[in-house]
Amino acid sequence: MPYKKVSPADVEYFKRVTAADRVFVGDEINDDFTHDEMTEYGKYAPEVVIEVLNSEETSLIMRYAYENNIPVTPRGSGTGLCGGAVALYGGILLSLAKMNKILEIDEENLTVTAEPGVLLMELAKAVAEKELFYPPDPGEKTATIGGNVMTNAGGMRAVKYGVTRDYVRGLEVVLPDGELLQIGGKVDKNSSGYSLKDLFVGSEGTLGIVTKLILKLLPLPKKTISLLAPFPGISHCIKTVPVLFKAKLAPTAVEFMERDVIEASEKYLGKPFPDKSAHAYLLLTFDGNTTEEVVKEGDRAAEVLIKAGALDVFIADTEERLATIWTARGAFLEAIKSSTTQMDECDVVVPLSQVANFIQYVDGLRDRRQIRIESFGHAGDGNIHIYLCKDDLSDEQWRAGRDRVMQLLYDKAAELGGQVSGEHGIGHAKRAYLAASIGERSMMLNKGIKQIFDPKNLLNPGKICY
Ligand SMILES: Cc1cc2nc3c(=O)[nH]c(=O)nc-3n(C[C@H](O)[C@H](O)[C@H](O)COP(=O)(O)OP(=O)(O)OC[C@H]3O[C@@H](n4cnc5c(N)ncnc54)[C@H](O)[C@@H]3O)c2cc1C
Repeated sequence: MPYKKVSPADVEYFKRVTAADRVFVGDEINDDFTHDEMTEYGKYAPEVVIEVLNSEETSLIMRYAYENNIPVTPRGSGTGLCGGAVALYGGILLSLAKMNKILEIDEENLTVTAEPGVLLMELAKAVAEKELFYPPDPGEKTATIGGNVMTNAGGMRAVKYGVTRDYVRGLEVVLPDGELLQIGGKVDKNSSGYSLKDLFVGSEGTLGIVTKLILKLLPLPKKTISLLAPFPGISHCIKTVPVLFKAKLAPTAVEFMERDVIEASEKYLGKPFPDKSAHAYLLLTFDGNTTEEVVKEGDRAAEVLIKAGALDVFIADTEERLATIWTARGAFLEAIKSSTTQMDECDVVVPLSQVANFIQYVDGLRDRRQIRIESFGHAGDGNIHIYLCKDDLSDEQWRAGRDRVMQLLYDKAAELGGQVSGEHGIGHAKRAYLAASIGERSMMLNKGIKQIFDPKNLLNPGKICY
């Protein structure tokens, strides 16, 4: 792609329209900006990093890049897991992290308006202080809300409350030619033509740069209870999930985990997990407004779990117990990463009725392949995270084994009616799997959409479909 290289004159312009201390070149660029959380997918140095403070600066930079044919990669916290926020073709890495103000919490319309660099944990805390609730709950709380919207992040509470997309009402977006666009608003319903908003959600910074978001809120549930149920084996554990739904239980979260991963997390955090006697576990949460309500649901779930073959049911109903279990769950990814020399991950989603089949298949691969495979995930919404670990394999053994196992995993997910990514997105790492999964016609439609928004292919090139 014949992009223009960033020159000293370009850098001067960027400093002039932003500030000298927010533009970085050469050795001034922190190594963190060359990758996201998956260093496995390579390091790519941008030619310049620019931190913007508002939509006007963003628009001026984007217009200049458009006129001068310079690629631009938007970036939030860089916690992505598919190589989305990396500057594959150099150019500008545009950091939105300093656009981090919560602009308004509207208690009448139940919305929060925020800049994209606000961290998920800050947004959740600020609205909770007003007894309001932002339900999406991805594991990485230091991700930005802009990054969450651009990856359509999922998380633990998707079972009951849905994913980030379900909470986006309005967006302010800077288009690739620098024009500022307002989409949607505070309205709850909207049948006014094609949903541009929904095209931007999950577009991974390839169609526009989000500079403001209006998100929907709910009243904050006052009580939460979690249940930890040990099972003799993973198959048994996973097969119990549809039974819970058949019993008309409405959990907020249903996570599955295995002893290996729990042990890795204990080692990583230096804190014991409440139980390690079994091979596999289901972790359930229920929320509500009164203790009676959540205890009643918890008791009913415990009965169903025991009937389905759980060895026991441990109840966590205090802040301390909830924190112990959920902190361990939140550390799984980092714990696996720190237990090996390199890892790769797969984030497929399959229909709920097929989760057990998929997990059984993964178990079979474990026995047949010479590669360590760890898994955990959102059993309640069919989104399974599988990690391949290099350990002490040679580079050659690792690459060959990893590619073979990955292909088998994606093939199996497709056979079971699944999709390539449940929540982490495509970035550049999963492009080939996406193309194979959705087929030529859908890929052409994806490329057509990209072409209309970004005819010069300047915005985050090399991601999703281009
Ligand atoms: C320990 C751990 C646990 C995780 N758990 C979950 C989980 O449970 N669920 C889940 O869905 N994800 C999870 N993730 C992945 C990651 O946190 C999410 O993908 C998150 O949404 C990324 O946000 P970010 O601010 O880090 O974005 P980045 O990584 O900086 O960027 C992600 C993508 O969004 C684009 N982008 C960022 N900001 C903007 C903007 N303002 N305008 C346009 N494009 C933009 C980037 O170009 C890139 O393509 C986890 C990651 C880690 C490390």
